[in-house]
Amino acid sequence: MIPLSEPFISGNEWKYIKECLDSGWVSSVGSFVDRFEAMVAKYVGTAHAVAVVNGTSALHVSLLACGVGDGDEVLVPALTFIAPVNAVRYCGAEPVFMDSDDALCMDPRKTAEFLAESCGMRADGFTYNKKTGRRIKAMIPVHVFGHPSDMDGLVEISGRYNIDIIEDATESLGSLYKGRQTGSMGKIGCFSFNGNKIITTGGGGMVVTNDPGVAKGIRHLTTQAKSDPFEYDHDEVGYNYRLTNIQAAMGVAQMEKLDEFIEVKRKNAELYSGLLSGISGVSFMGEKDWAKSNRWLYAVKVPPERKRPVMEKLLKEGIQVRPIWRLIHTLRMYQDCAAYRIENAKEAFETIINIPSSIGLSEEDIRKVANAIRVA
Ligand SMILES: *Cc1c(COP(=O)(O)O)cnc(C)c1O
Repeated sequence: MIPLSEPFISGNEWKYIKECLDSGWVSSVGSFVDRFEAMVAKYVGTAHAVAVVNGTSALHVSLLACGVGDGDEVLVPALTFIAPVNAVRYCGAEPVFMDSDDALCMDPRKTAEFLAESCGMRADGFTYNKKTGRRIKAMIPVHVFGHPSDMDGLVEISGRYNIDIIEDATESLGSLYKGRQTGSMGKIGCFSFNGNKIITTGGGGMVVTNDPGVAKGIRHLTTQAKSDPFEYDHDEVGYNYRLTNIQAAMGVAQMEKLDEFIEVKRKNAELYSGLLSGISGVSFMGEKDWAKSNRWLYAVKVPPERKRPVMEKLLKEGIQVRPIWRLIHTLRMYQDCAAYRIENAKEAFETIINIPSSIGLSEEDIRKVANAIRVA
């Protein structure tokens, strides 16, 4: 079996986790938590990083830190893993679905078009949806499969309409947009260290920001909002969202390898790209000339009528394969939400599959996958 995306554990993971066990510092306080946060902040180039239990909780507290609450709206891509959309609902807010561009990320031009057509700014300095009367407080562009979103356009919109950007960089740690790290360009960036991501802590996440107030607020919210170091005083409804020292120990060991991982991913992408280029109707998703993707998950476009047969063929050959996500506005919980001219995302749903992307893939594995796609 060739798995889709497996963790790669080859460095100091055993050593650092053993240090936690030997010292008794196993829970959510400990030196590895501080080290992991400092390492990610330095790598991404933000002033602050707060470690949390997973990427979904990172998104949840980021929305809260932006003041998203009951009755607000948040712009999200229709084509995404469901986590950022669920996080919007955890806050009592409503998602408004945007289309994707040809890099599969939220399309800045269409998003601008939606805002110009359907929304307006009021005297309080916020943008409101004319149809629903609700405030649009934030947007969550997702850097899909590691490829950065086209941030310049989104940052422009953010400034013009006073809409905070929370980057869902859960798939894109180490990816660059015009030389800048994903996660560092919005008000807040969120990472995930789930088992299938480019680095893993088993489960885990991180919030990064340059805003000291946001960082402090998120640290507070994720530790039960305890406001006195001694007495059990709490000044709001908080969460137990902190990462443990054991998980952070693994994270430090994985961060030490991140640049190597990215290099391998990019090299394997080249290999796939070469092998798949000659197959008619098939194209391997590349990268924009302004992007340097971490190449977390490889995507292949096939004709819509070939999608199922190709997937079935790969599975039969013992090759794990996945369809791209179902568009979130077609799911039961979100089918009543507004979706603005979803066209490209629909085409992506009908044509894109993900193929094995693990760091540990051998050249032989890659040839086997490419060949199975060729003969399918
Ligand atoms: C993995 C992922 C998340 C959530 O991360 P978890 O750590 O699994 O909670 C959020 N958004 C996207 C796009 C993801 O791929």
